Amino acid sequence: MKTIAVIQARMSSSRFSGKVMKTIHGITLVELVASRMSRSRTLDQIVFAISDDAGDDPLALHLKRLGCEIFRGPLDDVQQRYIDCAEAFGADNLVRITSDCPLIDWGVVDLVVEEFLKANSDYTSNTIEPTFPDGLDVEVFSVSSLISSRDLFESDLGKEHVTYDLRESGAYTTSNVRHVTDFSNLRWTVDYQDDLKQLDEKLPAGFKDMTWQELLGTGFTGVMSSNLRNEGMNMGSGQKLWNRAKQVIPGGGMLLSKRSEMYLPDQWPSYYQKSKGIEITDLDGRKFLDFSLMSVGTCSLGYGVDSVDNAVKEAVTDGVMSSLNSPAEVQLAERLIDLHPWADMARFARSGGEANAIAIRIARARTGKDKVAICGYHGWHDWYLSANLASDSNLDGHLLPGLEPSGVPRALAGTTVPFEYNDIEGLRKLLVTGEFAAVKMEVSRNFGPAKGFLESVREMCTQFGAILIFDECTSGFRETFGGLHLKYGVEPDLAMFGKALGNGFAITSVIGRGDVMQAAQSTFISSTFWTERLGPVAALATLAEMEKQRSWTVISQNGANIKAHWKKTLTGLGLPVQVGGLDSLATFSLDLPNWNAIKTFFTQEMLSRGLLATSAFYSSTAHTEELMAEYFNVFDEVFEEAALMVTEGKIESRLLGPAAHQGFRRLN
Ligand code: PMP
Repeated sequence: MKTIAVIQARMSSSRFSGKVMKTIHGITLVELVASRMSRSRTLDQIVFAISDDAGDDPLALHLKRLGCEIFRGPLDDVQQRYIDCAEAFGADNLVRITSDCPLIDWGVVDLVVEEFLKANSDYTSNTIEPTFPDGLDVEVFSVSSLISSRDLFESDLGKEHVTYDLRESGAYTTSNVRHVTDFSNLRWTVDYQDDLKQLDEKLPAGFKDMTWQELLGTGFTGVMSSNLRNEGMNMGSGQKLWNRAKQVIPGGGMLLSKRSEMYLPDQWPSYYQKSKGIEITDLDGRKFLDFSLMSVGTCSLGYGVDSVDNAVKEAVTDGVMSSLNSPAEVQLAERLIDLHPWADMARFARSGGEANAIAIRIARARTGKDKVAICGYHGWHDWYLSANLASDSNLDGHLLPGLEPSGVPRALAGTTVPFEYNDIEGLRKLLVTGEFAAVKMEVSRNFGPAKGFLESVREMCTQFGAILIFDECTSGFRETFGGLHLKYGVEPDLAMFGKALGNGFAITSVIGRGDVMQAAQSTFISSTFWTERLGPVAALATLAEMEKQRSWTVISQNGANIKAHWKKTLTGLGLPVQVGGLDSLATFSLDLPNWNAIKTFFTQEMLSRGLLATSAFYSSTAHTEELMAEYFNVFDEVFEEAALMVTEGKIESRLLGPAAHQGFRRLN
């Protein structure tokens, strides 16, 4: 069986003449396609099928110089060109690629070829139900089916689009390759001159050798069609800086959840100069009220709280660092232990991922075992991402889609094993092996524990000798004055706090039972900046302010109110709404296939009315009743319009830029 890729190319194009010889970062489109395709594992040969028209002579010369195989055939009957080419090269199966897709991805080609061979269908592609960015289109079919479709239909559409009858006639068996996340709203093709310009500007250095997932990881979104661009693109200073940032900082910034593309690609204000209460001032001096994530849940008291800032300023005046330690860390350890009577000791770090890695090291050191069962998001470190290394590398990433494990040693595969929330039997199957050092989980995130679930997890950990670790980095201090586990009366062996602990200042913590925590002494866990003074000082001041305001009750009430409002308004508009999350970490979504586009429209319209908003609301005590009422009014106004657009099928056409990117799958 010979499978060859046939890449069609021509100099004449009605929309953009000569485009296939134009360059991105100095490399022609055809060279990019040839180079990226050459990495495929499943192709026996790659051939450029160009026309025999004299206008394509320069293209033929260029391809020859590049060392590419060429076949020349009729200009206007592309289908015939494919068939003749297949016969000339003795192909059984063809992979159809077009040269206006310079970001075509070898991995996607291999996926579609493999599916074609497995499904044993006449035609396989990733475009029947598109989920990949437009421009990663791959079609695979047998030469015999293509010849049969020509003979049977002799259609003009077939002649121009080659596979039209194979796909649309219903006379052939077809199969589709989907991606778990729908990226079909992204355009990665070159139709117009402007597309080329945008790609040239937006693609990061080294893009030629990047997989499409790596490209996405850099924050690259693709091109916007020029009419929308002209209409909508009054690019602010923040967006301009964000585009520059992506050239010098991989991904644009340090946190996935602060990438502009997660909210409103090409239009998000992106950077701030000031924040106070819930007001954020962007680089152009525009003021926005933050009804989104309040810096991913770090600022449950609002931005720039005087009592916290003053404590920090005092500490700055007295000296942030010295060769001796800061007493604030001892006070903070005592305070956290006081709030969690089951715990005896604490360690501190400066990020949630670090605190999580510390807890895992302690649990492994204490038990002498390697394996860890997880249910939640626990940071970016190797130990966690290894959960996404599958025994078959083609399946890497499938358990927690969106968290790519590339760069994590394969030797770690099988050491971190996910389990589903509320699936006690699933967890039991893991733990009975006796191989697990720890069970690490978020106590609750999007939905609550089934009756007895947390208690059973606790019992099983004790029974099978695993350390129970509650990751309270996000849930801590939002529903109780301490960990969420206090509400359920289930005590872990270790718990981490992060996010809200310093109201925006960097401080995270691991607390735990003395016998378990002492294992930190039998290994090496140590870092210079874990000793700086501002983190613990800010945390102590934050805890005092939280207690004074009883912030956990205020933010939970705000969240409960917003959930009720979302439900009432959206149900009233006939929209199928779901609300979820802890009250103070509230989320909503619509059970509609184009929810992502609707969400983007919502963010776009809220922004134009001065509010930062998305489908999640992480409340703070600075969200006063008055401000909440303002949000409710604007929300209702925007969704009345959105509902109308949904009914008329016009949401997508109202977007001024690409739809928002999606995050990663959560287990709970
Ligand atoms: N654990 C949980 C439960 C989290 O929500 C997060 C952050 N989203 C982390 C760990 C990682 O924290 P950080 O981003 O500070 O490393």
